[in-house]
Amino acid sequence: MTRNTRTTGDSALNAARRARELRALGDDPQVDVLVIGGGVTGAGAALDAAARGLRTVLVERHDLAFGTSRWSSKLVHGGLRYLASGQVGIAHESAVERGILMRRTAPHLVRPLPQLVPLLPQIRPSQRTLIRAGFVAGDALRRSAGTPPALLPRARRVAAAEALRLAPTVRRAGLRGGLQAWDGQLVDDARLVVALARTAAAAGATVLTRVEAIAVQGNSATLRDTLTGATLDLRAGAVVNATGVWADTVDESIELRPSRGTHLVFDAAAFGGLTASLTVPVPGSISRFVFALPAPHGRVYLGLTDEDAPGPIPDEPKPSESEIDFLLDTINQALREPLTRGDIRGSFAGLRPLLKTAEDSTADISRKHAVLHSPSGIITIVGGKLTTYRRMAEDAIDAAVARVGIAAGPCRTRRLPLVGAVSGAARDRLAIPPLLIERYGSAASVVLSADPSSREPVAPGIDVTAAEFAYGISHEGALTPEDLLDRRTRIGLVAEDRAAALPAAEKLFD
Ligand SMILES: Cc1cc2nc3c(=O)[nH]c(=O)nc-3n(C[C@H](O)[C@H](O)[C@H](O)COP(=O)(O)OP(=O)(O)OC[C@H]3O[C@@H](n4cnc5c(N)ncnc54)[C@H](O)[C@@H]3O)c2cc1C
Repeated sequence: MTRNTRTTGDSALNAARRARELRALGDDPQVDVLVIGGGVTGAGAALDAAARGLRTVLVERHDLAFGTSRWSSKLVHGGLRYLASGQVGIAHESAVERGILMRRTAPHLVRPLPQLVPLLPQIRPSQRTLIRAGFVAGDALRRSAGTPPALLPRARRVAAAEALRLAPTVRRAGLRGGLQAWDGQLVDDARLVVALARTAAAAGATVLTRVEAIAVQGNSATLRDTLTGATLDLRAGAVVNATGVWADTVDESIELRPSRGTHLVFDAAAFGGLTASLTVPVPGSISRFVFALPAPHGRVYLGLTDEDAPGPIPDEPKPSESEIDFLLDTINQALREPLTRGDIRGSFAGLRPLLKTAEDSTADISRKHAVLHSPSGIITIVGGKLTTYRRMAEDAIDAAVARVGIAAGPCRTRRLPLVGAVSGAARDRLAIPPLLIERYGSAASVVLSADPSSREPVAPGIDVTAAEFAYGISHEGALTPEDLLDRRTRIGLVAEDRAAALPAAEKLFD
């Protein structure tokens, strides 16, 4: 069996490579590890396995980041929320993983984001004391994880003028400054997944989108090409189920209790040039907040809810009316001019893949991840969160290696930069617009080298060029216009923008 230890191979994913690799797999359908699910967990697991020198296949039945991994708040958390519920271990793990992402693996995709809690009259002194104590504990977590204050500054109190500079639409009457802390923010969650999958491909993994795993067992699965209907029977040393909220459809011994989280999308102008996460405590709660986040394409995302979501899992979950009211009512308490439904440009909702427990509320279920072994031998990795994907992947592949006794190297992902990773002086030297560096890192030079005629926006007022769409197809595995609009970029979050950019995306597939 071939052992592969490359990490600098070709990272470009595209239709030609997919066809070639499917053919090769048909000729030799025996691999070390099959990973099912192309979200952040599966892409991370495929990278971990391939970087250990294992012959690895990742299959995703739709597109990379088709599931929960594109509906997150796009925050790389230090784990403060978990401290509030006494989960010190998971909080520390989050802070460590945040540091790894920001310093080594994806510094181009994660930026420091100030978090501002405006001190308005409705915040009671006891609430203020708790928030301040939480921020101090957040600093301690950052220190314990070895993340320097030069990257994520210390929490502090800011004057009213500074609070208004960060969040210009905050109510002035009674504003007594703000509490400010720092966390990490992804340029986009789907772009992290694409970068992971491409890095896995460069390390030798076979990454196949629009390929579904059916009839899955501990050492085999049937792979169905959803574009042609063709199938092939794959044998694997270990099978890792990383299908998130669909985990119980692959392995029926898994019991989940999904919880829905909703965000609303606004034009940045509705928040007057917000440059921080405007964070407003939910009345009556000491650990829940609603926050408005500056987002790509000139937008602001407002989240977040936590609702039990029983029943069949939809491909695209939808926000409920009561979630929309809750988000607007909570943020409006902090704004000078209330926002209305008329200001909303779009919305999105995702389902958290939480394990079933005896807790009353989904908000109380631990976000800790779990590696589960089913009677058939399938290894399922579930729970957790985007921030800790790397640790989840490491635990899953450790379990795979141990189960079948495959000869493999140690986990290498702590120090393995993702495709495009660039920071510090090397980043400063790139003569490339910052917007493109945030999206593509050092690989932006390839996007920029495209024909000058393709540097025009894909539609008026949209900050994405035809060259970026073309790169999505040649290097990032986009196989349809939807992949370009809804995952390689997030144009699709606003229906009007999506309609305007659709012809440019369709033209590239003519
Ligand atoms: C609203 C919300 C906000 C969040 N915000 C944050 C945040 O700010 N920071 C953070 O760290 N975490 C956050 N999280 C958590 C984080 O988003 C999830 O934990 C993570 O994205 C789950 O990723 P996953 O890869 O496990 O699942 P998914 O992303 O759902 O991936 C599973 C994939 O498996 C595929 N699949 C299913 N069945 C098959 C099959 N039979 N064959 C092939 N493929 C299959 C699906 O198509 C899907 O793409 C948030 C979650 C939600 C819901």
